[in-house]
Amino acid sequence: MPAANGGTFEVTAPATGAVLAQVPRAGAGDVDCAVRAAVRGFEAWYRLRPAEREAALLRAASLAEAEGQARFLDTLIDESGSTITKARGEIAYTVDLLRTAAGEARRLYGETFPNDDPHRMSLVIREPLGVVGVVSPYNAPLSLLTKMCAFPLAAGNSLVIKPSEETPLTALAFGRLLLDAGVPPEAVSVVTGFGAECGAELINHPDVRCIALTGSTNTGIAVGQAGLTKMRRMQLELGGKSALLVLKDMDPVKAAKIAAQGIFTHSGQICMANSRIAVEREIYQPFIEALKAEAESLYLGDLREERTVYGPLINARAVEKVLEHVRAAVDGGAKILTGGEIYKGLVVKPTVLLDPPRDSLAWREESFGPVTSVVAVDDLQEAIDVANDSEYGLSAAVLTSNLQWGLHAARRIASGAVHIGTHSFQSNALAPIGGVGLSGMGRSGGHYSTEEFTEVKWISVDVGSLPC
Ligand code: NAD
Repeated sequence: MPAANGGTFEVTAPATGAVLAQVPRAGAGDVDCAVRAAVRGFEAWYRLRPAEREAALLRAASLAEAEGQARFLDTLIDESGSTITKARGEIAYTVDLLRTAAGEARRLYGETFPNDDPHRMSLVIREPLGVVGVVSPYNAPLSLLTKMCAFPLAAGNSLVIKPSEETPLTALAFGRLLLDAGVPPEAVSVVTGFGAECGAELINHPDVRCIALTGSTNTGIAVGQAGLTKMRRMQLELGGKSALLVLKDMDPVKAAKIAAQGIFTHSGQICMANSRIAVEREIYQPFIEALKAEAESLYLGDLREERTVYGPLINARAVEKVLEHVRAAVDGGAKILTGGEIYKGLVVKPTVLLDPPRDSLAWREESFGPVTSVVAVDDLQEAIDVANDSEYGLSAAVLTSNLQWGLHAARRIASGAVHIGTHSFQSNALAPIGGVGLSGMGRSGGHYSTEEFTEVKWISVDVGSLPC
């Protein structure tokens, strides 16, 4: 459907610069129209039996499994610069998320509690919130969007989706999948447009009861402030500056391979990427040599080649930000172990900085590119201190075979998740994904999402002389 004012914007492929499509540039009127539909859609969707909502989500999962390649693969590669491997991974995770969420439709559990008044019975029931405004990012435009939509839908909410302006085509294809699976058209709309126009209209609309935003911390703060003035329910999944601790018992070559995967996957455009690495001094030298070799061996070819590890950043601004972080760190005294420049087009070489100043952008802020910083530490406590030297707290990881060291660190690192024996970029449809500090508020995944997207209500009833 065109925007009310006829406006459009171009969607381009980061790998080639080719124009992929023109999509509607939605504004206030379009958002209002979508929210009004969602208010009606909420009534229709919530009144369905849980088994019917579950069935629709299961049909969506089966459709994504059977037709995911045809519906999403090329769009993911072209629009978001995903490699074929990352695109397939997103599709597979989408199927998993839809199946996992489907089961949640039956799990809107309540409870009862005792009353001192023998004539009164208390019930606590769980109800959906109503219209959820879903505002999504560009980096995993299918699987993250699925996670943000499938669980609130399972709980009986209706949705208005505002995808990233960089990746509206994937979101439109996802909306189509839900409709084809039998979700009522009024229960899900996709409005394509820009954050400051269409996104801001959505989060400020009086009939939106909840905002689910995944995006940068700056956006999260702006959206959070606006949402708070209207007492909206908010789930904010924001940026990260995840630490990887490499302890002295690790094989440095194995550790370097894991570290490279944790930072260079999808060009480092992963909220949980291990963009800071603390290595115990005993294995520091062999570790950085192995990481350099690993980084320089990565194949950066065509996105459709199986062996391509990563492709372009999303746009020229993203490249400039990454290079600026590197330049400023070097000006402050960091050494470049490898990389630090453009490979070609919007592809930045795998970059490893050694000892950036602790107040540098590369150390403190999300570069959201293929850049990590390594520092040497004397012991486990110093490694933990390095991990906690951040206002973010999304995910962290500890490479060790010593479970006691790993668990000790996991308990002391301020982060929404800590993974032992692997890198910090991990997903699971049942896991509570979310962060502390500037990484956001709330959790998504499994029953944690159900709690976020429902409200509890206390009902008490006079049961007269019935025993209760
Ligand atoms: P972004 O903040 O630029 O945009 C995210 C979404 O918010 C987009 O749809 C955008 O249009 C919209 N938006 C921007 N300003 C808005 C406003 N004022 N009102 C309403 N909507 C607005 O983020 P991005 O660059 O698309 O994505 C990358 C960021 O997302 C990174 O910081 C990354 O760490 C974060 N991220 C976090 C998680 C997580 O689970 N915590 C997952 C993926 C990405």
